[in-house]
Amino acid sequence: MIKFNVPPYLGSEMEYIQEAILNHKISGDGLFTQKCSRKLEQLTKSKKVLLTTSCTHAIEMAAILAGVGVGDEVIMPSYTFVSTANAFVLRGAKVKFVDIRPDTMNIDENLIEAAITERTKAIVPVHYAGVGCEMSTICALAKDKNIHVIEDAAQGVKSTYKGKSLGSMGAFGCFSFHETKNYSMGEGGALLINDSSFREKAEIIREKGTDRSKFFRGEVDKYSWVDVGSSYLPSELNAAYLLTQLENADLINSQRKQLWEIYYKELKNLSDRNYIELPYIPKECEHNAHMFYIKVKDLETRSKLIKHLKDRGVNSVFHYVPLHSSDAGMKYCDFVGEDNYTTSESERLLRLPLYYGLDNDSVYKVVEEIEAFFK
Ligand SMILES: *Cc1c(COP(=O)(O)O)cnc(C)c1O
Repeated sequence: MIKFNVPPYLGSEMEYIQEAILNHKISGDGLFTQKCSRKLEQLTKSKKVLLTTSCTHAIEMAAILAGVGVGDEVIMPSYTFVSTANAFVLRGAKVKFVDIRPDTMNIDENLIEAAITERTKAIVPVHYAGVGCEMSTICALAKDKNIHVIEDAAQGVKSTYKGKSLGSMGAFGCFSFHETKNYSMGEGGALLINDSSFREKAEIIREKGTDRSKFFRGEVDKYSWVDVGSSYLPSELNAAYLLTQLENADLINSQRKQLWEIYYKELKNLSDRNYIELPYIPKECEHNAHMFYIKVKDLETRSKLIKHLKDRGVNSVFHYVPLHSSDAGMKYCDFVGEDNYTTSESERLLRLPLYYGLDNDSVYKVVEEIEAFFK
């Protein structure tokens, strides 16, 4: 069976985990957390990166920091993971969905302005498949209207837009290190704080609403409850697992990209003959090969192809069911404008196996079986 995903594992993760155990420092913000944060700051050029327990929690922190509250509105695509919306719904806000672009599956930057009202507090672009949204347009609009940009860059670690790291362009950027992502710590994430005025408050929110981080730096002589907050810092054991991968990020990235290129090259023929569509990468974007997807004619063809592949030992999976058609989505969110592409494009999309350590022959086999299906 060719699996859809295998969590990244270099082989030497155990050494760092053991070191954390032997150092008797397994709770958060020890040496490994610090090293991961510095690595991510170097990689993204973000002024401050805080490791978190998940990308979900990083978005929740961003929602608190952006001051999103009851009755406020937040704009995002409906074609995303539940956490993008949930983080704001938890603050009592109303989520406003706008349609996606069919070429990148990202939010259509030209539809955002029409969804802005006096209550709009944030725009949340989701960089689908690690391919950047049209950030120049989005950031200019947000600046003009005095709204925060919170990037859901869960899939975008090591991707860039016009040379800038995804996650580093909005006031806040959110990464995921879940085991399904390019770099993993099991469960985990990071918050990029690109506007330094939020730095202190972010540390407080992450440390249960206390100024404990300042205390550890020796800036105050006792710590206490100073603001709202929760427990958003991961254990050192998880950070130790992640550090190995961040130190080998170029290796992981280049191997994923090489597999991605094989898919693209080998499936080009089927796309030229209009059986499938291949991903589109805008020229402003350098992507991280987070995902390889194809789009087929319709939902029925997709279901048949999934079955065909499964019967031949290949695990392929579809992706998000648009949030506006879910029970909670209907309760907490509105779709602004027409759903021209969100539903129809999501029904055609199929993700193929891609992970660090997958061998080239498996990719050729997946391609062969897709070709056989269309014969
Ligand atoms: C994976 C993912 C998340 C959630 O990440 P966790 O670390 O599992 O909380 C959020 N948004 C998008 C777009 C994702 O792909």
